Amino acid sequence: MSDKYFHLAVDAPISAPLTYLPPNEYIPLGRGDSVRVPLGKRTVDAVVLGKTSECGDFELKPIQEKIIEKPILPEKFLGWLEWLAKYYSYPIGQVTKLAFPPLVKKTKARKSHKSPVVPSLERNKKLQLTTEQQKCFEGISRESGFNIHLLHGVTGSGKTEIYLQLIEDVLNSGKTALVLVPEISLTPQLLNRFSARFPEKVAVIHSHLTDREKTEQWWFSYNNERPILLGARSALFCPRENLGLIIVDEEHESSYKQDEKLKYNARDAAIMLAKMYDCPIVLGSATPSLESWHNAKTGKYYLHQMNERVSSRPMPEIKVVALQDRDKTANLPFWLSSLLYTEIQDSLAKKEQVALFLNRRGVAQFVQCFDCGYTYECPNCEISLTLHGKSDLVCHYCNYTTVFKEKCPDCQSENISAQGVGTEQVEKDVSKLFPDAVVQRADRDEISKREQMEDLIKNMEMGNIDILIGTQMIAKGLDFPGLNLVGLILADVGFHLPDFRASERSYQLITQVAGRAGRHSQVPGKVIVQTFNPQQKCLQFALNNDFEGFCSHELQQRQELSYPPFGRLALIRIVGNTLLNTQKAAQHTMHMLQSLKNHRTLYNEIKVLGPAPAPMTKLRNKYRYHILVKSPNAQTLQALLNELAPDFGKGLSSVKLQIDIDPYNMM
Ligand code: ADP
Ligand code: ZN
Ligand code: ZN
Repeated sequence: MSDKYFHLAVDAPISAPLTYLPPNEYIPLGRGDSVRVPLGKRTVDAVVLGKTSECGDFELKPIQEKIIEKPILPEKFLGWLEWLAKYYSYPIGQVTKLAFPPLVKKTKARKSHKSPVVPSLERNKKLQLTTEQQKCFEGISRESGFNIHLLHGVTGSGKTEIYLQLIEDVLNSGKTALVLVPEISLTPQLLNRFSARFPEKVAVIHSHLTDREKTEQWWFSYNNERPILLGARSALFCPRENLGLIIVDEEHESSYKQDEKLKYNARDAAIMLAKMYDCPIVLGSATPSLESWHNAKTGKYYLHQMNERVSSRPMPEIKVVALQDRDKTANLPFWLSSLLYTEIQDSLAKKEQVALFLNRRGVAQFVQCFDCGYTYECPNCEISLTLHGKSDLVCHYCNYTTVFKEKCPDCQSENISAQGVGTEQVEKDVSKLFPDAVVQRADRDEISKREQMEDLIKNMEMGNIDILIGTQMIAKGLDFPGLNLVGLILADVGFHLPDFRASERSYQLITQVAGRAGRHSQVPGKVIVQTFNPQQKCLQFALNNDFEGFCSHELQQRQELSYPPFGRLALIRIVGNTLLNTQKAAQHTMHMLQSLKNHRTLYNEIKVLGPAPAPMTKLRNKYRYHILVKSPNAQTLQALLNELAPDFGKGLSSVKLQIDIDPYNMM
């Protein structure tokens, strides 16, 4: 007897596949085909997963139609999507949906009149690899099949050239390559290097493209018209046949983790994809994540290291200034030390460029009344509003905006003033202090489009900008020949966050920022780090460029608390409309977890912490509670959460439960 029914992944919040009858009129259908089916009163998209002879005792409905001849999801790719749905506890049909182009029915790319997504540039030639590069290159290409390589190279050591040459070999063998970068729209320099080396061979996918542009690039890649796909995390979902290599640049970046809906980590998912396709994957970074570092040190990954910059360009010199000791008589803005001030003067005199980083937008962090203590808070999020311009108070989480009237709304006192400093204030002060310098600010308020970022980079490259002021948006991957002085205005921004990755992130930020200085000079670039916590451990290690020292210190702390990489985490987030309901639901969930734990010895080693109000308890008008689950390994964690899933949310109307596996956002 042949199987009559179809198992479909239906685009709806349902965790298991649904069963359907074949279409009334025969259409050939197989695994990976996309179809339309009735669901309740609606019609939705679905993907064929397989056939079955069982139908349960429901009344089945027939499939309506096949959406289109192509695309069909390749078998290995569909297997990977099924893994994603399972691992991240997300409805299978909503995962498979991500693998189709935004405009499904548009099979042929129409030429758009706008500037092309991938620029065509003069061909750039292959470079002779340095001894260090050659060693890493050979170490990576020696292995065939699925292997994980961690490429740890200091900033400017030439990791990108290694990627380019690995890709060349893969293309020559008739296969394709996938290159993931954290924020492609913010790293046009990298895109330019790729498209200059491989003209007409690069497709690119990221969130700043229109649906039409995305669809066009999607087809370039799907049809193998362009064998290299470069993109942000979402590029992972573009199906391919013949994948021969995956590269994940800046593998430590938290933007690889999607925070909502399918809460996947693109780096981890990419490793699984490489496994499915039995191809190598290279994770590159100057500051690998502790997870990857630990895996490399314990032999799960191959480790390749480069400790020197190309052409023996020296590493930058880092100096730390304790802001509390700054010369307060110097008549400088409170955020500026005399040292940084004189270094800026020197650089400008030498006609060199300066970059100042501060991870805070706006003019001031919060506005407080000194008579009654009132601070302006967002009514939706209960966090302080940030002053922008003269009188706009903005919430950085939900964009709520109100007007600052220079009078306390509570006690009418005029002793109310802006505290802290943001990029906008730095820009104002710097323009006053150095009136002849060309100053440009780069943060999300100033730069929101791809074209703006491209202009900024062009102007920096041509030396049209003297002082660049920006958030971490400009800390990554940029390479400017004239930039020799970098100032980190306040290193402390991340030190005290209630997040076990806080010091790892601070170390990374300092190293990344420092890595922008002196990339093309035989004189070491200068980096000045201003802080109120000069003794902070991560700062000390960063100063000495002692990544390994930092890792062993940090890993020891993680081990004591069984945080990753020593065990796995799941964050259960309970989100509701009222505080009371949310609290109740959180307690209820906690009881369920506890009774599951008491039930099976398998779960003995699992720790369940909470429920506790999330560090940001009220966000966008919703209340939030957290339960943290710590498990010695992924399988046990999975087992527990799968047992919880069927009853999850029963009787908890108006409250939502979200599971975040391997969470990054602890707030
Ligand atoms: P990373 O990605 O490790 O920070 P890059 O790949 O950006 O480093 O390389 C830093 C600089 O060195 C770039 O300007 C690049 O063009 C140059 N470069 C890389 N490899 C070589 C090489 N083998 N010979 C000469 N220059 C190189
Ligand atoms: Zn007041
Ligand atoms: Zn808000």
